Amino acid sequence: MSMKHEYDVIVIGGGPAGMMAAGRASERGLRVLLLEKNPELGKKLSITGGGRCNITNAELDIHTFLKHYKESAQFLYSPFSQFGVSDTFDFFTSNGLPLVTQERKRAFPKTEKATDVTHVMVEYVRRAGVTVCINTPVLRLKIENGSVSGVVTNNGIYTARAYILASGGKSHPETGSTGEGIGWLNEIGHAVHSPNPDIVPIVVKDEWVRRLSGTTLTGAQLTCKNKFEKIKVTGNILCTHFGISGPTVLNSARKIKEMLSHGKVDAEIDLFPADDIGALRKRMQTHFELHANKTLKNALAELVSVHIAEAILEAIPHESHEKKTHSITRDDRHALVNRMKCLPITIVGTKGFEWAVVSDGGVDLSEIDTRTMQSKLHPNIYLVGDVLNVHRQSGGFSLQLCWTTGWVAGNSV
Ligand SMILES: Cc1cc2nc3c(=O)[nH]c(=O)nc-3n(C[C@H](O)[C@H](O)[C@H](O)COP(=O)(O)OP(=O)(O)OC[C@H]3O[C@@H](n4cnc5c(N)ncnc54)[C@H](O)[C@@H]3O)c2cc1C
Repeated sequence: MSMKHEYDVIVIGGGPAGMMAAGRASERGLRVLLLEKNPELGKKLSITGGGRCNITNAELDIHTFLKHYKESAQFLYSPFSQFGVSDTFDFFTSNGLPLVTQERKRAFPKTEKATDVTHVMVEYVRRAGVTVCINTPVLRLKIENGSVSGVVTNNGIYTARAYILASGGKSHPETGSTGEGIGWLNEIGHAVHSPNPDIVPIVVKDEWVRRLSGTTLTGAQLTCKNKFEKIKVTGNILCTHFGISGPTVLNSARKIKEMLSHGKVDAEIDLFPADDIGALRKRMQTHFELHANKTLKNALAELVSVHIAEAILEAIPHESHEKKTHSITRDDRHALVNRMKCLPITIVGTKGFEWAVVSDGGVDLSEIDTRTMQSKLHPNIYLVGDVLNVHRQSGGFSLQLCWTTGWVAGNSV
């Protein structure tokens, strides 16, 4: 049986952006209904940051902060000047969850528990007086005379004066983010960039990488090139059983994927980017002189670590591996150094939506009044969080986008 409810605002999706929007709108005295298809709110939020939740990035200079959103930065000055990083700190601190800042300015709850962040948001929504319907998937938007007049759910049709779409992107679909909201926006005429996995590990073919699974190549440089361009990134590269990961790789995934769309990408890892070939040859020679009576295998393992040494040794014949370093030929030494500077990897693709931290794509910001997060096409719809096409890096920038856009929509609706 179809039930009709009247609200000022209906928020679709109970993730971080939806909860912030619903709580803020309700605090202002509006009658707010929050619809969530899962049996719980904030399922994805509860697994963020490896369970610790990198809640924001403590870069307090708005210009520097917004550079992390690349081409979207120009659209984001207004919302971030209404609710920025220091507001996020104040919000969580005043709700009993102080934050701490760690390396790369990444901020976490002091308790380092993502579930505590979810708890704070659920409590915020409850205290603000939001009506929450869990287990309530929105099946589609009801359109009348070209504008949204209701939402169709498994539980009937709900109507309101305004709607806030906070249904997320497509990454980790098991958390509820299955991307249908982005599809509806397309149907009602918004220019939607199709979602792509972003901040996602890279799959490679090479056995040596798989053998190094669990090892971090510290301060290494990854170079990728095709016919048209070349990128170089330096940082920690984590080897896994399927390929490479870690912040340096995750933040380059979008570019690498784009390069792959033009065909083969040649890639290599330089283990010692700070040393040129000459300096590294000298370093190796000195090391071998110091360990003249050790086997090559053992001496090299002291220079780089056992597993990485195995990958480097593939550059020379197996019978040399057990030789003493004093009897290693100059050619072999040079071959080892060349491999340290240039470990080839064969990139196959990315791990896809299931492993992506966010999905790129969603609604173009040029179609949104970012002072309010209101659609320029349908003034009774507001768009927040991962439904927006905003490219960003890892480091707390995704969740800050949710806190900011959610608060601004809830404050303006
Ligand atoms: C493993 C992982 C780790 C991450 N770690 C971090 C981190 O540490 N820091 C950071 O900044 N970002 C992180 N992110 C990214 C961050 O989690 C997202 O950017 C953020 O959750 C997006 O919030 P949202 O509210 O827009 O959407 P979501 O969190 O995706 O929430 C959308 C909600 O809408 C609901 N929904 C969808 N469709 C419907 C429907 N039809 N009807 C009803 N409900 C619906 C979903 O069930 C879901 O609950 C991480 C992401 C992942 C996957």
